[in-house]
Amino acid sequence: FLPESRRRAPLVSPVARLWWRRQLLWAEPRVMVVQTAPATRVAIGEELGLAPGAVATGQMVAGLRALGFDYVFDTNFSADLTIMEEGTELLARLRANAAGRSPPDAAATAAAAGPAGGAGPAAPAAAAAPPPPLPMFTSCCPGWVNLVEQEYSDFIPHLSSCKSPQQMMGTVIKIIWAPKAGLKPEDVVVVSLMPCTAKKFEAARPEMTSPGGGRHVDFVLTTRELGRMLRLNRVPALSLPPSGYDSPMATTTGAAVIFGNSGGVAEAAVRTLYELVTGQELPRLEFQELRGLQGIKHATIQLPAPAPAPEPGAAAPAPSELRIAVVNGIANARRLLDALRAGAAPPLDFVEVMTCPGGCIGGGGQPKSRDPGVLAKRMQAIYSIDEAATIRRSHANPEVAALYARSSLESPSSPAAHALLHTSYRDRSKEHIT
Ligand code: SF4
Repeated sequence: FLPESRRRAPLVSPVARLWWRRQLLWAEPRVMVVQTAPATRVAIGEELGLAPGAVATGQMVAGLRALGFDYVFDTNFSADLTIMEEGTELLARLRANAAGRSPPDAAATAAAAGPAGGAGPAAPAAAAAPPPPLPMFTSCCPGWVNLVEQEYSDFIPHLSSCKSPQQMMGTVIKIIWAPKAGLKPEDVVVVSLMPCTAKKFEAARPEMTSPGGGRHVDFVLTTRELGRMLRLNRVPALSLPPSGYDSPMATTTGAAVIFGNSGGVAEAAVRTLYELVTGQELPRLEFQELRGLQGIKHATIQLPAPAPAPEPGAAAPAPSELRIAVVNGIANARRLLDALRAGAAPPLDFVEVMTCPGGCIGGGGQPKSRDPGVLAKRMQAIYSIDEAATIRRSHANPEVAALYARSSLESPSSPAAHALLHTSYRDRSKEHIT
């Protein structure tokens, strides 16, 4: 884990070889940090010999510590952060479309959505730009983002500008956590444990680096690769005492863990958006219509009028319903995009797409299984973690609120939040992808 300048070993001169050896001896020790995605905890058990559907969070964290990681953080934390940013962005788009104008900049987006997406102050005067298009697409899944950039680039404006939870976590670790912990970002190596091979590509995107060129996520391991590393290093993860995540950023919610299932991002967003738009408590936290393994699911969530009602003309109108589509599998994603292109899709506000079957529980980096019910068992395991969670709504996560309050982020969709937690996309239809 040496910086690029120290990795290029001179090949010929003995003097240079001596110089290189001294560089190695003087190399500063790196701080090894790992983050673990929601879906890995319900699949790593299969690599360790447990039955499909076993929840092995504590054993996974213990195994990572035994491998030598100094800090183990939970990507669920940044899933909650994603909901705060994505929910605010969706609400701003809904309001802008209802008002027929675009929020001119990030600050205006925040103002239009109000603090943490709530019923906020009046939006600024109308700008000439058209409103950002609906439906808004989720952007957590790099397989999906790649599909849009490479084959459906006319839909790029529909993608949420939010980074994925993996990239938000890497950014927060390097840019916010490391300096507070007395570390230089370049001395911190961030490894992600993901269910996903596409996350390796995502981490290497040039957009996912600091201005100095450092990557926010340095390496990505899949669940299967971790299983192999544990076996190769003879780490008896199952017999180690279960370990917990490091703090801060250890408090996470049930809404975050369901990101691992198809429909989970949409359900987590609804849990937050409903309460922020209406000011009322959700009558039910579980949305069965968004759950399951079907390729495309549709749901319309009614949003009662905000209480108290806003003064006439005080703010952009609040949406009265949320029309959602949840898609899993790349063929179904193409089907929906083709229907949208042809104008044959029903009216939609929000579309969640995960390109693996069942979502990240069925990711390309997850253990292979001969059990035909493996996806249903992993899915149920994820929902059991949500049911057991003390906090089940992202906006109720006190550590997420503390992160905004005690850092430059200040509030969802603030200019600083846009600079650190959002990204951009480009037409890559003509690029050669390796
Ligand atoms: Fe990766 Fe598949 Fe999850 Fe997309 S659905 S983030 S490709 S594991």
